[in-house]
Amino acid sequence: MTAVPYLTVLLFLVVIAALVWFTRAYDEEEQRATLINDVLWMEQNLQFKLDRNVSQLAQIGQEILSTTDHHPSQTSAALRQLVRSENGLVRVMWLDATGHMQGALPPLGEGEMPGESPSEQSASRFRLARALERPIYGQIHAAAGDRQQFEVHVPIYSENGFAGAMVGVYSLRELVTDELPWWFAERYRVSVHDSDGRVLVSKSKVAPLSDRLNYSMALDPPGGGLTLQVTAYRGETRWVQVLLIGSILLLGGILIWSVLQLRRELQRRHRAEQALRSESLFRRAMEDSMLTGLRARDRDGRITYVNPAFCRMVGYSAAELVGCTPPMPYWDPEFLEQTQEVHDRVLSGNAPPDGFELRLRRKNGERFDALIFEAPLIDAAGRHTGWMGSLLDISAQKHAEELARQQEERLQATSRLITMGEMASTLAHELNQPLAAIASYNTGCLNRLEQPTLDREEFKDIFDRIGRQARRAGDIIRRVHDFVRRSEPKREPLDINLMIREAIGLIEADSAKRGMRVETELDESLPAVAADPVMIEQVIVNLVRNGMDAMRDNPPSRRTVRVNTQREGDMLVVRVADNGTGIDPETARRLFEPFFTTKTEGMGMGLNICRSIAELHHGRLGFETNPDGGTIFTLSLPVETS
Ligand code: ADP
Repeated sequence: MTAVPYLTVLLFLVVIAALVWFTRAYDEEEQRATLINDVLWMEQNLQFKLDRNVSQLAQIGQEILSTTDHHPSQTSAALRQLVRSENGLVRVMWLDATGHMQGALPPLGEGEMPGESPSEQSASRFRLARALERPIYGQIHAAAGDRQQFEVHVPIYSENGFAGAMVGVYSLRELVTDELPWWFAERYRVSVHDSDGRVLVSKSKVAPLSDRLNYSMALDPPGGGLTLQVTAYRGETRWVQVLLIGSILLLGGILIWSVLQLRRELQRRHRAEQALRSESLFRRAMEDSMLTGLRARDRDGRITYVNPAFCRMVGYSAAELVGCTPPMPYWDPEFLEQTQEVHDRVLSGNAPPDGFELRLRRKNGERFDALIFEAPLIDAAGRHTGWMGSLLDISAQKHAEELARQQEERLQATSRLITMGEMASTLAHELNQPLAAIASYNTGCLNRLEQPTLDREEFKDIFDRIGRQARRAGDIIRRVHDFVRRSEPKREPLDINLMIREAIGLIEADSAKRGMRVETELDESLPAVAADPVMIEQVIVNLVRNGMDAMRDNPPSRRTVRVNTQREGDMLVVRVADNGTGIDPETARRLFEPFFTTKTEGMGMGLNICRSIAELHHGRLGFETNPDGGTIFTLSLPVETS
């Protein structure tokens, strides 16, 4: 197939060459026809000249030979008229009936055949003319001055019979060549050859001759093997033809050049296409081998492309997905509205630049979490044509996170178990307070019993207090039990302010003994939180007690722990502020580590347990420096989930 254009060009050139050749052949044919026409014209012209001369000779002969009155003036004028080079005659002679020359014009010079009979050949012509009674031409012969001549004998008859003959002497040169019209001489070389092929006379130009265009014919009269040859000069350079051939060659050259250029261009394109193909194959292979799902959508949200990873992820084939419009088959029906909302946000160009998570559903009904990044698709012309989303299946990751969390929890449980012994000590420490209180109430009762009067109301109040402290001791034991069993916190609607008041009530006696004050500033409009009351109470007690420990060396005026509550967004925040020693960076770093303590009687478990409790409630425990000196501990609990 690739050879077709070359073959076409070749064919074109061959056809053009053939056309040129035909034109030339036709041209030559025409020239030949013109040559033949011209030669025929020349022959007729010669014949006409000879015939006219014969009739003139006959007429003048009549006047000279048959009339007695010799040489009337008009006869001699007619003779002079006859002997002119254009007639081809160089001399006219007249002979009497016996063949003797009577006269000649121009007259004969010395040694030029005087009045006797002419040569033998001439005499035989004379006799033949007389006998046949018609003009007789003689053979050609060389004459003085290298001239080729021949004669014609014209018999003349008078009333008395044969009166003599007029002899016209022709010069071959003058007859044939000298008087040719200019246009004939321009075009042709005219020559006369004898029977041996020698050139007797010729009219030629210097230009070389073409042998192809010539024409020969017998020159008769005078006959005797003479031939007249007419040869056309080489045709003039035909500029039209040269131009034509030249432009055809030029055009042919340009054509071949163009075809070659075209071929090069095609090869270049072919190479570019090849490169493009391998580039796109490479990209396709890259897309196919990717683990990230790719999904392109047009600006109306219709899917225009999905890669194999995306198909694997959602379980639908590309054919099922391409062309789909929302709701997409892989959207989770349970989250249809939220998904549609996210979709609309992406289409309006407000997709979060850091990506977003979405719950999707595979074809087999399995749910999975995807992390999606959306980016605008810009085409080569810079137009925004749609959106390209890359999806990562993060279910496995989430699952792993969950596992890690559970493991951490178990680890914590283990560590809690390991520290069981320590816990027992804490328990003793914590139980010590209610037990000490019970013991002191008991001593009080015993002292009162010594007195004569008994105030029953007072006793009732003391027993009440004893009962409360005993219950608290029971609670502490139960809580430790729960904690060791790692049970989930009990979630019940809880008034956090009430919880704080109760916790402060628990340490009231202790704080009074240490000369500490606890002030509260509670927001009464707080909603309830779902939480475990014992745990939360434990956290508050711990934080307040730590605050008091930090202010141990403070002057009495600066021994106040301030507890306040407020709502911050979705969180309820409890702040416990003291004006104590504050926390240096080294302590801050290790604050929540188990067994980290700076106190001689401390165990270092308090904050660790408090943080666990906060996290168990999906809350946080943190601290900051108090601008008034000391530290502020912050417990935040979510309003809805806790
Ligand atoms: P413990 O009270 O048994 O030492 P915690 O875990 O409750 O254990 O506290 C660990 C350490 O954190 C304490 O020993 C103390 O150095 C520091 N700490 C805790 N609360 C405060 C506070 N309000 N001000 C200064 N230091 C504190």
